Amino acid sequence: MKKLILVRHAKSDWPEETEDFDRPLADKGLAEAMHMSRFMKNNNVAIDYFVSSPAVRALNTCKIFNQAYHLTITTNEKLYNPSESNFESVIYDLDDNVSSVLSFPITTVFPILRILFPKIFSTFPPVVLPVLKSTVIPGRNLKEQKRNCFSFMIRGRFNFISKIFYFLAFIFLFSCQKKEKNYFEAIASNDVKLSDPEPHEWRYNRNEKFQTFEGFQKSKKIHPEIGKNTIYLQPIGEFNILQKKQVELAGNYFKIYFQLETKILPALPNTIFPKDIRRIKDENEQILAGYVLDSILIKRKPKDALVLMGITEKDLFPRSDWNYIFGLASYKIGVGVTSMYRFSNGNVTKANFNRSLERLLKVGSHEIGHMFGISHCLNANCVMNGSNHLSETDYHFARACSLCQQKLNSSLHYDNKKRLNELKNFFEKHHLNSEVTRAEEDLKLIK
Ligand SMILES: [Zn+2]
Ligand SMILES: [Zn+2]
Repeated sequence: MKKLILVRHAKSDWPEETEDFDRPLADKGLAEAMHMSRFMKNNNVAIDYFVSSPAVRALNTCKIFNQAYHLTITTNEKLYNPSESNFESVIYDLDDNVSSVLSFPITTVFPILRILFPKIFSTFPPVVLPVLKSTVIPGRNLKEQKRNCFSFMIRGRFNFISKIFYFLAFIFLFSCQKKEKNYFEAIASNDVKLSDPEPHEWRYNRNEKFQTFEGFQKSKKIHPEIGKNTIYLQPIGEFNILQKKQVELAGNYFKIYFQLETKILPALPNTIFPKDIRRIKDENEQILAGYVLDSILIKRKPKDALVLMGITEKDLFPRSDWNYIFGLASYKIGVGVTSMYRFSNGNVTKANFNRSLERLLKVGSHEIGHMFGISHCLNANCVMNGSNHLSETDYHFARACSLCQQKLNSSLHYDNKKRLNELKNFFEKHHLNSEVTRAEEDLKLIK
């Protein structure tokens, strides 16, 4: 008697001009396959044979699983678009001494698999089906999939297809790429084209390269992973009540904008800045931004932090020949700092509260967006546009353009509609009216 584990390929991409056979795994797919293979290994799921479709996305999933098992991988053409007879023949043709098989077929979705292999699925005891179903709902997080996979495994062995094999687990690492593409295509008509830059604007004398979606996918960047998926904010300084409120609201906003858990750490005092990294410029004290990253934040980054963003009420400078900066980030390690100082000229009041809050939200989400691998946007008016000064920041939307949203979503995998509704509610609650209008315009296009 053999046991069979079917593993659907992990989340894949479909870059333009790529044949189905050559579709690569998405970055998230790579990470998920790695987690799932380790999970199976750690739970002593014994495998002694790997057979995979030769399609790139299946074979690469198989190779990742094999990093945990170190077996010889066999490919079989019959597992690419398998008919029932093809699929069964792969199993029947296995060597007699093979007892546990991990198979990586290419199939579109679970219901199709059920249609292709009715004999297999009709033999499951009804009690198994809900468990199976719940393992394959697209968009479920990996933790839940593992729990379901495990509960399925410990339910025991189910005899099917005339005593040939056990169906041990069906792991489904899939989310619907096509549906997400439609969302981005839909909202693209609300993107507002950038006009030619004026001499004082960021793009005027910089020759930044347009980052395409494909270019973004190839770039190295940080990703959320299990146990490392929280955005932390580290306030540094003496904040008054209104400033504290702004930091709290920024935390709420980033939680919605990135759809990631966001936590605010207890504030550190300004005495943490030694004298030699402070300077006075135009009667205003400034802090050397690099010191904040290297000597304050990096060593304080919590274990589960994907991003640690310092927020200071002091003004920042990057080096002696620069006047000031709004923020600085080290993207590879996910640490950055944003200064609130210039958003309100050092003094948040009820009158300037909303304007300075909007600036904090924009600059903070822009910097964290960089940490997730998004370059300055040249596609449309967008929160990821580069900015030389506050009036340019004010001119740019808090809304990420369709391309930048597509990039962000391909890394963070959230529900676009849920995010958009939550953003609209946030903007409404805090009277950021032009952003409410933009969110409403986007919602109209996806309803
Ligand atoms: Zn930037
Ligand atoms: Zn953009």
